[in-house]
Amino acid sequence: MKIAILGGDGFVGWPTSLHLSDKGHEVHIVDNLSRRWIDAELGVQSLTPMDSIQERTRIWKQETGNTINFHLIDIAEDYEVFKGWLADNRPDAIIHFAEQRAAPYSMKSDQHKNYTVNNNVNATHHLLNAMVELGLDAHLIHLGTMGVYGYSNVGAAIPEGYLAVDVDTLAGHKANQEILYPANPGSIYHMTKCLDQLLFQFYAKNDGMRITDLHQGIVWGTHTQQTLRHKQLINRFDYDGDYGTVLNRFLIQAAIGYPLTVHGTGGQTRAFIHIQDSVRCIELALKNPPIRGDRVKVFNQMTETHRVRDLAEMISRQTGAKVAYLPNPRKEAAENDLVVENKQFLELGLDPITLEEGLLGEVVDVAKAYAYRVDRSRVPAVSAWTKEIADEIEHDP
Ligand code: NAD
Repeated sequence: MKIAILGGDGFVGWPTSLHLSDKGHEVHIVDNLSRRWIDAELGVQSLTPMDSIQERTRIWKQETGNTINFHLIDIAEDYEVFKGWLADNRPDAIIHFAEQRAAPYSMKSDQHKNYTVNNNVNATHHLLNAMVELGLDAHLIHLGTMGVYGYSNVGAAIPEGYLAVDVDTLAGHKANQEILYPANPGSIYHMTKCLDQLLFQFYAKNDGMRITDLHQGIVWGTHTQQTLRHKQLINRFDYDGDYGTVLNRFLIQAAIGYPLTVHGTGGQTRAFIHIQDSVRCIELALKNPPIRGDRVKVFNQMTETHRVRDLAEMISRQTGAKVAYLPNPRKEAAENDLVVENKQFLELGLDPITLEEGLLGEVVDVAKAYAYRVDRSRVPAVSAWTKEIADEIEHDP
């Protein structure tokens, strides 16, 4: 297949590009390199040393003989250029990663809120709009997030995208229908992913587009089979307070002998998936496209859930690091349950890598191996969700 990977220079996009190229597909990365510019804006860099995208693709060609094409296009800003590229290349499938993906970054200031909304909503809408205009019947796979569901405490598992509800009809009986699970975003970033969902619903219904939306958990791990083939193919590892996930923060803290900083009570439950499994799931989704006229196909792309304090304790047990409790910069429930259905990918053959078996390797092979590159001042999470929370933290750091 000819596959366009929008955002293919990013943390999930790069190993996906290598994996699909390795499987013999013709891979085209479309990326505006904004993630690298954001590193420059924040004054941070990936823990792992990343080469330019041109150098990475050159090494891949040298190692495998396979070509990965790179196209520098901003899909949110340059609609006509992007449409022209789609018209010239007409991919069979399009995998859409090209969005600003950090919740803390999206909450940093009013400018960051505007940027995240403009970038993410325009990126998705430009893609859908151009595909319809060009009559392009490619399978569109979008990387969405578990964060669109919020974290409900009603004691029922979160289904894969759609909720069955009983409604009272005017005729006086009960009718059952499935609705898109009610959106409950916890940040501006997550809000854009909720808006994406509505765009997909409309375009699937109105134009018969074939769309798969993967509601992904927090991706952990760095290496995949393909990134390990050469040291210059290494994946990025974000550890700063905005882009580094809670797990990466813990891994770095364990590696440099700092206490693991848990925000609030640590009772927040999150969903996780290893990068190797994420890449496999995307391939499984690619092999199982919806049929034209189907509703948007939604998968919950996660393999396990953990409370943040249990995660800290797991890493503490494995490494001897201490755990410290700090005020929470986010506006969120102190404690939440998260039970998630994920049987679709398991039924398609996914055999997940677990945190318990893989974490120590991450600390030793990645966090400790590159600890000399850590800027310690960048590890704490500093972006607060509201001005009130920012004030509280300033007075009680
Ligand atoms: P990333 O920031 O590392 O990669 C995103 C890539 O998209 C970057 O290379 C960036 O330069 C590019 N991009 C952004 N806006 C663009 C635009 N307008 N035009 C062209 N390119 C653009 O993010 P990631 O961690 O690889 O995440 C990829 C996708 O998966 C995101 O949509 C994210 O919401 C989703 N996701 C990620 C995680 C995770 O834990 N990393 C979890 C759930 C969902």
